[in-house]
Amino acid sequence: MPKYVYDFTEGNKDLKDLLGGKGANLAEMTNLGLPVPPGFTITTDACRRFLEDGGLPEGLDEEISRHLTALEGRMGRRLGQADDPLLVSVRSGAKFSMPGMMETVLNIGLNDQSVHGLVKQAGGNERFAWDSYRRLIQMFGKTVQGIDGELFDEALEELKHGRDDLELEAADFQRLVETYKGIVREQTGQDFPADPHDQMRMAVMAVFESWNAPRAILYRRQERIPADLGTAVNVCSMVFGNCGMDSGTGVAFTRDPGSGHQGVYGDYLQNAQGEDVVAGIRNTMPLQDLERLDKPVYDELMKIMETLENHYRDLCDIEFTVERGKLWMLQTRVGKRTAGAAFRIAVQLADQGLIDLDEAVTRVSGAQLAQLMFPRFDGDAKTNKITTGMNASPGAAVGKAVFSSERAVELAAAGEDVILVRRETNPDDLAGMIAAQGVLTSRGGKTSHAAVVARGMGKTCVCGAEELEVSTKERRFTAPGGVVVSEGDVISIDGSSGAVYLGEVPVVPSPVVEYFEGATDQDDELVRAVHRIMTHADATRRLKVRANADNAEDAARARRFGAEGIGLCRTEHMFLGDRRQLVEDLVLASSKEERDQALAALEPLQKADFVEIFQAMEGLPVTIRLIDPPLHEFLPDYTELSVKVALAGDRAEEKDRRVLAAVKRLHEQNPMLGLRGVRLGLVIPGLFAMQVRAIAEAAKAVEGARAEIMIPLVGAVQELEYVKDEAQRILAEVGVEALVGTMIEVPRAALTAGQIAEAAEFFSFGTNDLTQMTWGFSRDDVEAAFFSKYLELGVFGVSPFESLDRDGVGRLVRIAAEEGRATRPDLKLGICGEHGGDPDSIHFCHQAGLDYVSCSPFRIPVARLEAGRAALTSAESDTR
Ligand code: ADP
Ligand code: MG
Ligand code: MG
Repeated sequence: MPKYVYDFTEGNKDLKDLLGGKGANLAEMTNLGLPVPPGFTITTDACRRFLEDGGLPEGLDEEISRHLTALEGRMGRRLGQADDPLLVSVRSGAKFSMPGMMETVLNIGLNDQSVHGLVKQAGGNERFAWDSYRRLIQMFGKTVQGIDGELFDEALEELKHGRDDLELEAADFQRLVETYKGIVREQTGQDFPADPHDQMRMAVMAVFESWNAPRAILYRRQERIPADLGTAVNVCSMVFGNCGMDSGTGVAFTRDPGSGHQGVYGDYLQNAQGEDVVAGIRNTMPLQDLERLDKPVYDELMKIMETLENHYRDLCDIEFTVERGKLWMLQTRVGKRTAGAAFRIAVQLADQGLIDLDEAVTRVSGAQLAQLMFPRFDGDAKTNKITTGMNASPGAAVGKAVFSSERAVELAAAGEDVILVRRETNPDDLAGMIAAQGVLTSRGGKTSHAAVVARGMGKTCVCGAEELEVSTKERRFTAPGGVVVSEGDVISIDGSSGAVYLGEVPVVPSPVVEYFEGATDQDDELVRAVHRIMTHADATRRLKVRANADNAEDAARARRFGAEGIGLCRTEHMFLGDRRQLVEDLVLASSKEERDQALAALEPLQKADFVEIFQAMEGLPVTIRLIDPPLHEFLPDYTELSVKVALAGDRAEEKDRRVLAAVKRLHEQNPMLGLRGVRLGLVIPGLFAMQVRAIAEAAKAVEGARAEIMIPLVGAVQELEYVKDEAQRILAEVGVEALVGTMIEVPRAALTAGQIAEAAEFFSFGTNDLTQMTWGFSRDDVEAAFFSKYLELGVFGVSPFESLDRDGVGRLVRIAAEEGRATRPDLKLGICGEHGGDPDSIHFCHQAGLDYVSCSPFRIPVARLEAGRAALTSAESDTR
C-alpha cells in the first residue's frame, strides 16, 4: 500500500509533486532546524484517489490516526483535549501555488469544552480563546460546509458596531460563537460538529474537494496548470498570533520582489491570526517596526531569512507568527517576482556567489525578456486609473475608445489610434481588432476569444475588466466612481498589468530594446543584468539564431539583435506595389515572348532587392525562399473587378476583361492547397529561373554573399529535382555557388525526407504550414472561429500555432530530421515558422537536433536566451 502521510520530518523540498509546495517546504524548513510547528502532510496521491473513488482511500484513516497520535505524543496534549487541547490547522497546498483558490481551516479541535481548556492554556486569556473558537466556526462553515461567508462577516460587523476588532472583548466573541453556531444550524440543518476528529476529517475532505471547485478549475486553465495533479493537505499544530500584543502574524520577502534589492520587505500585524494581515482588517505595520517591538524575535527572523536565501539560493517569501515572544515559521516558497526583478536577482545571486551563471540563465525566461521589450507607460507620468482587468496580451496601447469593429476600421483608416472596447469579442470583430492599437473587454478570461486572438496578433489586450459596464448600443462604458467613457474619448490600456487609464498615458521605449539596438550606456542595472545573462546564454547555446527578414532594414535590425543569418527571406512582397503590373503582365502573357518580357522586367528589380539584403548581412548566410503564394493573390479582387466590368457593360476595357478572365481561371476553392510554392515553378516556365538568376547575379555583385535557395511546399523529391537542376544550371552559368534546399512543410515531405534529402542540401521546417496540414486546420479560419472553444474544452492547452505540437507536428519534424540525416549526414536543419520564436518550441528544436531557429527580428533575443536555456536544461535526443 502506498504511503499517504509524511511527517514534516520525513519530507523535503524536492517532493513537491507528492507533498505540494507548502508541505515540501514546511518539511525542508523543519529539516533545516527552523522553528516550524510540528505536523504532517497527506499526499496529492491520496487526493487523486479520493477524487477518483469519491471517498478516502483505504487505510488512510488509520495512517492519519497514527501520525496524529505521534504528534499528540510530541506535543503532550491530545487533539481537542477538554482541559488542554491540541489544536491544528488543515491547509491545502498543491504543487503550484494557486493563491486564494483553495482552502485552509485554523483552530481545529475547539468545541464548547476545549475552549475552556484553551483559556487555561493561555493563562486565563478568555478573549483569545473565544476569538479562536469563533474563527474556527467561521472558516469551517465557509470552506467545509459551503456556507456563504457574507453571513458570518455581517454578523461580525453588526457585533463590532463600528468598533475596531482590537476593542472587542471576550464576551463579544463568546456571543459571536453562539450567533455563528446559529448560522451553521440554520444553513445546514445540523449542529456545528463538536468532535475534533470529525472536524479534522471533514476539513481534509473539503480540501481535497476544493481542487475541483469551479474557481480552481478556471484558475488552472488560465495558468495552464494540469488538472490532474491534486492537492496535498497539511495538518499543522496551531501557534497563536492572536493571544495578546506580544503576539502577531506577518509576511515577508527576503528581498524586494520589484527591484531584487536586499533589505527588509514585509508587513506585520500585532495580536492577529492567519489571513488578518492580507485581509486588511487593520493597518499593518512595516516589518522594520518589529525591531522596536521585539528585538530578539526580529533578529531571529532576519537570520532565518538569510538562512532561507542561502539555502534556496533565491528570493523566498515567508509567512510567520509570533506567539508571546516566540517566532514560528508557517510557510516559505521561492517568491514570485516581476520580469525585471527576475533578471536583476539572477545576476545579484551570481555576484554573491550563490549560483553560477549557468544557473542564472535558467532562472529567467524568454517570456520575461519579451515582457521587458514591450514599450511601456512612463512610470513617472500622472495617471488616472479607472479599473484593472486581466493582463491578457502585453504592451501599452493608447487610443480613442470605439465600440464596434466597423468604427475601429473607419477611424483607423482615417489615421486615428483606437482601442476596441467590447463586452466580449467574437469572430466578427476580427477586422476591428486588427485595426485597433489594443483590445479591452469586460468579460472573459485569458482563454477568451479576445485574449487568444490578440496574443496571436501580438496586440495589447486587457480582458475581463468586470467593473466596466459596456454598452455597445450607446457607444460608451461606465467605470467605478461614475466615470463614463464615450466613443472618441482617449483611454490607455496596459496589457502587462491589466490596468485601464482614462486619458493618454505617455509611452516610453523599453531600455532593454535600446540596449539591443546598440545603446552603449549601461547605467541601468536592469540593462546590465540583461547583458550579463545574454552574453552567457550566447556562450552556452548550440542552436544558431537567424531572422525572418525580407528587406535591408529588417535585416540590419536583426543583426543588431544578434541574428547569425537570415533563415527566411520571403520574396512575395517584392511583387507588390508598382510591381503588381508586371505580375499581371506575366499572368496575362499569351506567348513565350510576352512572358519572357514580363520576367525580364522583374529580374533587375529582384536583383536589387537581394543585393541590399546581402550587403546588410555582410557574409552571413541568407536563405531566400522562391515565390510561394498563388499568383492570383497579386491580381485584383474577383468580385470588385467583375462589378467594374459589369457596370461598364460594352464600354469595359479590353484589358479589364482579360484580367477578369485570368482571375476567374486562377480562382481556387482552397488556395492554401492550390497552385503555389514549387508547383508554380513547375507550371509557370521561367518564373523560378528568373528568381534564381536574380539571386545569383546579386550574390556575384556582393563580396562574400552567401545565398541559400529554398524551394517551398515540396512534397516529392521529383518536384525538387526538377527545380534544383534548373537552379544549378543557372548558378553555374552565372558562376556563383549557393546551397539549394527545401522547406519541409507538407506532411509527405516529412515522411519521405530520406528521399528528399538526396536532392536537398538543407531542410527548413515551415511549421506554420506543417501545422495546418497535419491538423487539417486552415489557420485563418480556425483561430477566430473556434480556438477559444478548443482551449476552453482543453482539446489543447495552447494553440498549436503558438507552441509546436510535439506529439504530432513534432513527430514529423523528428522523422524528417532523422531520415534526412541518414541520407545526407551534413544536412543543415532549421525552422522558419513562427515557432522559431516560441520558447517551448525552441527547446523542442534543440532536443530534435536542429542547427538553427529563425524568427522575426524582434524575437531574436528571446530565441538566443531560450536556446541557451535549452542547452542547459534539456537533454538532446540526437547524438550531435
Ligand atoms: P494560503 O495557502 O492561503 O496562504 P495557509 O495554509 O498558508 O493558506 O494558511 C492561511 C493562513 O493561516 C496563513 O496566514 C498561515 O500563516 C496561517 N496558518 C496556517 N496554519 C497555521 C498554524 N498552524 N498556526 C498559525 N497560523 C497558521
Ligand atoms: Mg499561506
Ligand atoms: Mg509555408
